[in-house]
Amino acid sequence: MTTLRAGGATDVGQARSTNEDQLLVAHPLFAVADGMGGHAAGEVASLTAIEALMVAFDGNPSSEGLIDAVRDANRAVWEQGRERSELRGMGTTMTAVALIEEGGEEVLAIANVGDSRAYLLRDGMLDQLTHDHSVPEELRRAGQLSQEEAEADPRRHVLTRVLGVEPEVEVDSFHLVPYKGDRLLLASDGLFTEITDAEIASVLRRRVRPDRVAKQLVQLANEAGGSDNITVVVIDVTDDDDRAARASATVKTEAVTAMPRPLPTAGGDSSDPDTEELPRTVLTGGAPPPVAAGPVAETGGTEPAEPVQPARARRLTFSTVAFVSILVLLMASAAAAVVVYARSSYFVGVQGGQVAIFQGRPGGLLWFEPTLEERTELRVSDVLPSTADVLRRGKDEPSLAQARRYVGNIRQEAFRAAGNQPQPSPLPPPTTVPAPAPLP
Ligand code: MG
Repeated sequence: MTTLRAGGATDVGQARSTNEDQLLVAHPLFAVADGMGGHAAGEVASLTAIEALMVAFDGNPSSEGLIDAVRDANRAVWEQGRERSELRGMGTTMTAVALIEEGGEEVLAIANVGDSRAYLLRDGMLDQLTHDHSVPEELRRAGQLSQEEAEADPRRHVLTRVLGVEPEVEVDSFHLVPYKGDRLLLASDGLFTEITDAEIASVLRRRVRPDRVAKQLVQLANEAGGSDNITVVVIDVTDDDDRAARASATVKTEAVTAMPRPLPTAGGDSSDPDTEELPRTVLTGGAPPPVAAGPVAETGGTEPAEPVQPARARRLTFSTVAFVSILVLLMASAAAAVVVYARSSYFVGVQGGQVAIFQGRPGGLLWFEPTLEERTELRVSDVLPSTADVLRRGKDEPSLAQARRYVGNIRQEAFRAAGNQPQPSPLPPPTTVPAPAPLP
């Protein structure tokens, strides 16, 4: 059974008089919401959305249930805004994560609207999982702005999608297979506009409790200026039902069957299927051969000079041992390089008629079969025929984030081809968030 441990922190920041953010830590459901609107409207929007999310998800704790719960939250905020004139135009972001069971497997379902973010720290690497629904970010994804231009763009507070402004909303959603040691971060923009991803990663890498990590992040954002409300939820995967160990065992078994001779492996199970093969293999293969031949030196000082023949035989043995060791080391290094190459890339392909993201190489590499990372809701029959051909062959991408970006692009492509209004270029009309009020 997958187990999680989570904690959160929220703070008004240094410049605002009210905290319009909300967080939810209610296993197996976690969320942040960043409300917006005049007077108290922002607070009402985020609180209304979180409450509606909880109630709806409780009634249907599934992947579809999470998406529906975000839609319910949208409608709840929208209806309140319609009923009470002082709340008109209020809205909120929503980034939610839930541990659910899908097809007999436990997965983390993630849903997002707006510019609050979900990040994943895995093997020490921080990856932003969600897309911001803001004007510059949509332009960047359409290739019209560079990363640097998007980050510096004054419209970054102008959101293209948010809960509560329209009766219906499009929800981004995807799955993540949780591995023990994974650390998820949900955050409102008050965190990542104040401190860099590198600073965030450095705090997340510290092995301390999620609630303490959340507090540290909030504190850093405050020290950096705290120009907005800051909200953080940190979720640790503390157990994964041996999913990581099983994945690692599968890789080892396949390696042993496929190789002419077994690879030298250190004892003990890996808890990490992705990265531990390299150091382990190299270390074992590198056990220094001269030690194995040590008796030559040890006996030299205490015993009478040995006859020429045995000494030569021993040197021969030493040479053979050294040669074999080096050979094994070379093979192990080559195998390790293959492991890294096979496991460090992603591709977008097709599974069961749906567009899916795999880890590995299309068609596999030696004994490494690609593994399913995420299945999207996009059907291959909905994409352009030329794109479908590319997908059937497998479209290589250097990272998970870039694979997701590619899926986003073909989704837009399919959407336009179906005769719908193009999005995001030209952009859908910005719906919310005027730039923040001038600081006092
Ligand atoms: Mg904010």
